[in-house]
Amino acid sequence: MKWPRIIGQEHAKDLLIAAIKRRKVAHAYCIWGPSGVGKDALAIEFARVLNCMEPIETPTSIEACDRCRSCLQMSHLQHPHVQLVFSLPAVKAPNDDDAPLLRLSDDQIALIQEQLALKARNPYHDISIPNATQIRIAAVRDVRRTLQLAAPLEHGWRVVIVSEADAMTIEAANAFLKTLEEPHVRTTLVLTTSRREQLPPTILSRCQQIHCGLLSEEEIAAALVERNGIAADRARIIAVLAQGSYARALELAASGDNDDAIAQLPLDFLRAALKQGRYRTELVALVEHIAATLDRPNVVLMLRTLLAWLHDAYRLRTFGSQAHPHLIFQQGQAYTALERFVVHYRGANLRAAIAATDSAIAAIEANAQVPLALISLVLRLRSAILQTHVPTPP
Ligand SMILES: [Zn+2]
Repeated sequence: MKWPRIIGQEHAKDLLIAAIKRRKVAHAYCIWGPSGVGKDALAIEFARVLNCMEPIETPTSIEACDRCRSCLQMSHLQHPHVQLVFSLPAVKAPNDDDAPLLRLSDDQIALIQEQLALKARNPYHDISIPNATQIRIAAVRDVRRTLQLAAPLEHGWRVVIVSEADAMTIEAANAFLKTLEEPHVRTTLVLTTSRREQLPPTILSRCQQIHCGLLSEEEIAAALVERNGIAADRARIIAVLAQGSYARALELAASGDNDDAIAQLPLDFLRAALKQGRYRTELVALVEHIAATLDRPNVVLMLRTLLAWLHDAYRLRTFGSQAHPHLIFQQGQAYTALERFVVHYRGANLRAAIAATDSAIAAIEANAQVPLALISLVLRLRSAILQTHVPTPP
């Protein structure tokens, strides 16, 4: 397996491995694609292999040894030739010539160190520092100064990784462009971004583009089991909800609050929605409970779980027991509910129910009012599932 720290992204790995093996490392790269799929992780691994003192070369790959001094320094993200640039909190009365950390408080610097340590341990960790939304010119000037003053390297490469480079201010981007225009020997600049369209074309045109796509559910589930010790059943469900992002999967796995949303709430919601007779009071109470206790992302999470469950219902109804290995919910309460549901609502229009849930998710993600969107979803679910209801024969 090539670069085993990196989940999937074979195409991107192959491009970077080929560049190292053929001694054709570009002056600048832009690694782009959705968030949480491993762009920073790739950039860090690239820097690690480029600087490893005893890399292991095979016909198809080149791997870091994980033992030399350089690899040890990389494992703490404390390599003298590898610089990681990311958004920092705003400071009062900034002076563009200050070193980027100069005016931050001790607490802020401690937090930054802590975030870097987390990133070193897990390159998929999203560095999060309060009020840090921009990469300012001071940070880029600092990079430029370092590169201009640097002595030539005898071994390895200087690597500057600009994480979420679209956060550069216009002044920072202009200064960065100058850095790109004055190539340095054995130096490569690696930008990562999930909003490539927000980077100036003048910068993009000087970078070799490397695309990272969404990870597959199988890749995410396997990583959760192998790296995070998560049980296969739970990993499969989280992988569906993570929507191709391993970072999102880690968030879901770490937050126990979501277990309620993952397991029980979607089924309660569906039950309340399909209740016969006087359903309104209970339904309104449940919708109010959901809107009051879950924030918008968790409502979306609940609906995505419902969506995955409805897809399972469709598979189970169409393929019977043969569908079992392909179900997301293969056991427990959610599976029992599936079995009952497909028997009880044999005539349900599941495609319409799936479409209704899909559009409720889109509406809530586009900032629709949560209670209204949920009530409207209930009405559509009732019409899709109940109106075509064929009573089970006694
Ligand atoms: Zn090494």
